[in-house]
Amino acid sequence: QRPLLEVTDLVKHYAVRGGVLRRQIGTVHAVDGVSFALGTGETLGLVGESGCGKSTVARTVLRLVEPTSGAIKLDGEDIAPLSKTALRPYRRSMQIVFQDPFASLNPRMTAGDIVGEPLTVHGLATGAKKQERVAELFQQVGLRPDQMKNFPHQFSGGQRQRICIARALSLGPRLIVCDEPVSALDVSIQAQVINLLIDLQRKQNFSYLFIAHDLAVVAHISHRVAVMYLGRIVEIADKRELFANPRHPYTQALLASVPIADPKAKRLTPLIDGDVPSPINPPSGCAFHTRCRYAMDRCKTERPMLKEAGVGHQVACWLNDGTGRSEGA
Ligand code: SF4
Ligand code: MG
Repeated sequence: QRPLLEVTDLVKHYAVRGGVLRRQIGTVHAVDGVSFALGTGETLGLVGESGCGKSTVARTVLRLVEPTSGAIKLDGEDIAPLSKTALRPYRRSMQIVFQDPFASLNPRMTAGDIVGEPLTVHGLATGAKKQERVAELFQQVGLRPDQMKNFPHQFSGGQRQRICIARALSLGPRLIVCDEPVSALDVSIQAQVINLLIDLQRKQNFSYLFIAHDLAVVAHISHRVAVMYLGRIVEIADKRELFANPRHPYTQALLASVPIADPKAKRLTPLIDGDVPSPINPPSGCAFHTRCRYAMDRCKTERPMLKEAGVGHQVACWLNDGTGRSEGA
């Protein structure tokens, strides 16, 4: 079966200019050759420290940001080279839920108008038919239809994110990109919103590209997980496999950095040295070599590509070259 979304060698570079002549002084490698596939009804979690390019992947896949190169196939159709006009029919199939439900809702519009707006923009429903559809969407996300007349400030943070989710659902999307959708919410509310997202997917069978830095949240909602470091996917596997058997030194450090007793406390220091290097002119070879305790000479010059390390498990690390369990299988 063909995947719903197939991203191949996605690259997003930005020029950095400086000086009076505004000459290019560097290149931000925000996304540096990312490939993955996402099946129908599947959730792929995308994790990594802030600044690793997760959000840029999300926005580029949706063509909210223009890719520098690479293919973005939706249902087998490459949408990367499409003009804005040619892209329009695909917009309906792809929606995004942002991190901050406070910033992404127009404070002057009623919740009902916000949720119904995409229906108007795409000319799908008006008048009573639209109101009916919006009421139905409110119920789907656990809000009451009589709340349609209220304004965003009259809702709690969790309810506001439900409004954003209802808006994303309004056009019957096939793919919903969630960019840290619960990071701005109280911990007590996070699980409710995550469980709503899981429940909606079971009923409507769309796919999620789910971005988060919180491994506990990703572990709960994802079927597969991809770990990003400095614009690249360094490991991707089935969720259980990744958490039980992480192969990339960065993934191992990420997992070890979440203390069992307090999953909110982050301590990357025991296993990783120093900060994330700048994505402007990132380290050569394996971009993780400046912080990796296993770094060898070749890591500084040769870039490891994703290679099979088990069934559906891929790792980009020279330690997995010729010595992995899957080799010779
Ligand atoms: Fe470490 Fe080398 Fe593997 Fe990169 S390729 S993670 S530097 S061992
Ligand atoms: Mg982000």
